[in-house]
Amino acid sequence: MIKEQMEWNRRQFLKLGASAAVAATAGMALASCGTEQAAEKPAVAAPTQTPTATATAGANVRLEDQVWDFEIEPEFDLDAITEEETHEVVVIGTATSGMHCIYALLEAGADVIGLEKLNSESVVVGGIAYRRSVGFSWGFSYNTVAHNQGLKVEIDRIVQDQVRISNHKVDQRKIRRVVNLGPTVSDWQLGIMRDHGDDVDNLWVEDHPERHQTPLPTDATERPGQQDTYWHPLGYTIWAGDVEWALEEQAKARFGFEVTYETTAKKLIKNDSGRVIGVIAEKADGTLIKYYGTKGVILATGGYEGNKEMQKKYLTDADRYIVAVGKATNTGDGLLMGQWAGAKVEDWPHTVMTWDGMSPECIRAGYDYIGVARQAWLYVNAYGQRFMNEDVTFGGQGRSISIQPYAMMWTIFDEKYKDPKIETNLKGTVCRRMTTVYHTMPGPGGIMPFCTNEATQDLIDAGVILKADTLEELADLMIERGPEFGIGDELDKPGFLATVARYNDLCDEGYDWDFGKDPISLYKIDEPPYYAVRSGCGFLVTQSGVYTDEHMRVLSKDVSRKPIEGLYAIGNVASGFNAFEFSMDTNLGSLGHAATTGYIAAHEVLGLPLEDDPKKTPFRNKNIFE
Ligand SMILES: Cc1cc2nc3c(=O)[nH]c(=O)nc-3n(C[C@H](O)[C@H](O)[C@H](O)COP(=O)(O)OP(=O)(O)OC[C@H]3O[C@@H](n4cnc5c(N)ncnc54)[C@H](O)[C@@H]3O)c2cc1C
Repeated sequence: MIKEQMEWNRRQFLKLGASAAVAATAGMALASCGTEQAAEKPAVAAPTQTPTATATAGANVRLEDQVWDFEIEPEFDLDAITEEETHEVVVIGTATSGMHCIYALLEAGADVIGLEKLNSESVVVGGIAYRRSVGFSWGFSYNTVAHNQGLKVEIDRIVQDQVRISNHKVDQRKIRRVVNLGPTVSDWQLGIMRDHGDDVDNLWVEDHPERHQTPLPTDATERPGQQDTYWHPLGYTIWAGDVEWALEEQAKARFGFEVTYETTAKKLIKNDSGRVIGVIAEKADGTLIKYYGTKGVILATGGYEGNKEMQKKYLTDADRYIVAVGKATNTGDGLLMGQWAGAKVEDWPHTVMTWDGMSPECIRAGYDYIGVARQAWLYVNAYGQRFMNEDVTFGGQGRSISIQPYAMMWTIFDEKYKDPKIETNLKGTVCRRMTTVYHTMPGPGGIMPFCTNEATQDLIDAGVILKADTLEELADLMIERGPEFGIGDELDKPGFLATVARYNDLCDEGYDWDFGKDPISLYKIDEPPYYAVRSGCGFLVTQSGVYTDEHMRVLSKDVSRKPIEGLYAIGNVASGFNAFEFSMDTNLGSLGHAATTGYIAAHEVLGLPLEDDPKKTPFRNKNIFE
């Protein structure tokens, strides 16, 4: 299935034309890479164009009070807009969070409209065209699949990890609610998938037996060097399905529901008492239309992966992301609409899902990222110095790179990369799927397509990965090709050779005196040919927007933080669940969060009861899901 999907993705990529696709992807490229957002449009309804922003505020104005070009509130003459529709609930955005919300609303018998700025075909994510659904590791707190596989999860630990990685800048009521409802929402979703015809009885759950974690997969500290940075999504893969797509098909089959495509929400409508009662939207032909929601309006518009100006404002290190892989068409519209309606936007700096192993050249060669660059080989910076424990998660690697010279690094490896046992012990920085001796996936060799030896060979052939017979020659190549990759030519050759020698000594000793890397991942760089590949830090999605409470009601900017009547936010446009960085230290995924918050909002807007009493939560035994 992976192969088929990759083939499909590749075809879409080629159809788009490599250069256009890469430019779209590399819109966030560093200045030194000199790439700009693609001028060519992907196959979507016209996305909101953000003008080049210059801060309009003078000095000493709080960021929150500054108004940049892209956030100037548009004015509409409501009376001049003659077309209108009234429904009980208006959901803006129909992908992960939106489609789950819509489905729950339909099941409850509500009259709902789902507005979607894209068309029904595809969306460019990174250099590759996906459908609306991206990602596959759902990361609910628990579900029947995990239960049937005998996995147990420590609940207080998940919550505390989530809070800790966010430096406590989160609402614990919201996190607890999402955790408590995880099994219910996950099983509800699996039921819909089953009705849709998907094989939900043979899903795998991502646990970590290579670290002997079963039966408590959140317990991540066993060997020296394995401190904390492991991602444990209790996810499952539905490659064939695209969950959001399946939900849409089921919604059509069961309820006759149709997404209202190519309709971009522009601005919320409030009544005299400040309640949000609807939204002004624009159709593909430019016609404006008012959609009223008698019970409420739900923002499900995702992040602002495609809005560089907003990134400049809210992401402190926006200039250091070499690639943004998320949807170029997600431009932060929900954040803006909420802001104009008086919502409290999350304080700077915002949250992103940082990614590593990124390079524009690799995307040009047809891969989202360089799998081998993310395995825990030896990492050196532009000058040839080792600078980190290589055995970390995606966010950990990405963030560590971002403060190095040029915000880039080299992964140094050797011919042993072809040995599956070594590859396994080197793990990979994201989800253990990269080393799938323990987890067979339904794909070629059971390995993530980006992480196969074939992918590495492709990237060697494409000149993205440098290859030499000796370490001296490799250093010369790095110096020669460095400027082309934006990492400069200042590699200190003797220093680099000394770094490799030191690293090899540590490997011989079996203990990393310098950075405390897990001994199982210490492999000498001593088997020619030798390889070097340059990568940088990127991100997939942004995860900050307007603050909500645990009922998903949008909170006001006013210090009272009273909810804005009639307005809800879910998924990545809703703040308060993650802060600073995606919660890679827990098993709570962003997809699971989006689905759960969509489910919550559907119930809240209709005033339906939600059974989230911890004592009645399925599979829950005090602080353990089992
Ligand atoms: C390559 C990639 C892989 C990922 N893998 C994983 C993974 O394995 N596990 C995980 O947990 N997370 C993963 N993620 C993150 C995850 O996909 C997102 O966090 C999640 O899909 C966000 O859901 P959402 O509903 O908030 O936004 P989205 O799913 O992006 O939905 C937003 C929708 O709103 C529409 N929209 C936006 N503005 C408007 C407007 N003005 N009017 C009408 N419609 C509008 C958009 O077109 C879009 O359809 C991945 C992300 C990427 C890019």
